[in-house]
Amino acid sequence: MNRDWELLKKEYQEKINASMDLANLEQLRIELLGKKGSINGLMQEMKNLAADQKKEFGMAVNNLKQNVEAQFNKKLEQLKELQLQAQLEKEKIDITLPASQYKYGTLHPLTVVQQEIEDIFVAMGYSVVEGPEVEYDLYNFEKANIPHDHPSRDMQDTLYVDVKRLLRTQTTAIQMRVLEAQGNKLPIKVICPGKVYRRDDDDATHSHQFTQIEGLVVGEGITLADLKGTLELLARSMFGPEREVRLRQSYFPFTEPSQEIDVSCHVCGGKGCPVCKGSGWIEILGSGMVHPNVLEEAGIDSSKYSGFALGVGVERVAMLKYGIDDIRNFYNNNVGFLKNYKRFE
Ligand SMILES: [Zn+2]
Repeated sequence: MNRDWELLKKEYQEKINASMDLANLEQLRIELLGKKGSINGLMQEMKNLAADQKKEFGMAVNNLKQNVEAQFNKKLEQLKELQLQAQLEKEKIDITLPASQYKYGTLHPLTVVQQEIEDIFVAMGYSVVEGPEVEYDLYNFEKANIPHDHPSRDMQDTLYVDVKRLLRTQTTAIQMRVLEAQGNKLPIKVICPGKVYRRDDDDATHSHQFTQIEGLVVGEGITLADLKGTLELLARSMFGPEREVRLRQSYFPFTEPSQEIDVSCHVCGGKGCPVCKGSGWIEILGSGMVHPNVLEEAGIDSSKYSGFALGVGVERVAMLKYGIDDIRNFYNNNVGFLKNYKRFE
């Protein structure tokens, strides 16, 4: 059997040279050098040859195979090099381009105000305590001197989870947990910040979710004067050193006596303006002396110990402070709105 080995060699070389990429070359390698490839096919032909022809034929095929392998390896290196160059070109960094602008996030205005209020209390030696938002009726109402038949349950439309549990309507629930846990370790001096929930239709001044911070102090000889001093300090820290506070008689089941706290208007200084509706005063807090029933319920001797409690709405403070007129803005997550409020330094 006569073959033109040189022609075959040339034919294979041309095929290899024509490969444009690595995938193409690999395919060709399988075609030529693979198990079922052309060169192996030639090897198979050898067994049909006469003995005296086998040696010559075998040498020729081997020679062809070595040549093809060498060509193949050379081409492989070339293509790898080309691919590397192309990749480097693609990944080249143009250091003259302007850098991307990174946008910094800001704290939510409610977080800013909450942290400010917390800082004021922490500076006075209070601890910050948190509690569960899904709360037992027991802590939200019962222990806070609001038994099942109490009319003031109607004051707070409650979102119940089941018969015993609800979304807490007031952070007073945390205070009840503190009293239960620390009733034998007086004095108590804590603030309890957190989200609370009411069954309420949302409008400019109402939200079904809002944020309260309540403060609780229990110890020996705590009086209304201590409460008033604390409230003055709080009002002046939040709204400026000129602020005065005014206590108005009110009713909360958890405290007796109870007071609403008005702060002299920080916009007009007390002369009267739209923010204070012309009165010169803005209602900001609820407070009172802790009801003896609440202390006794926690195992605290109410003839020896007394305490005060106060509660402030974080949204209300933020709205007054920043001049925001719709409470829903806090919950719409409009970045354009939220980014405007940074912590006052
Ligand atoms: Zn005013």
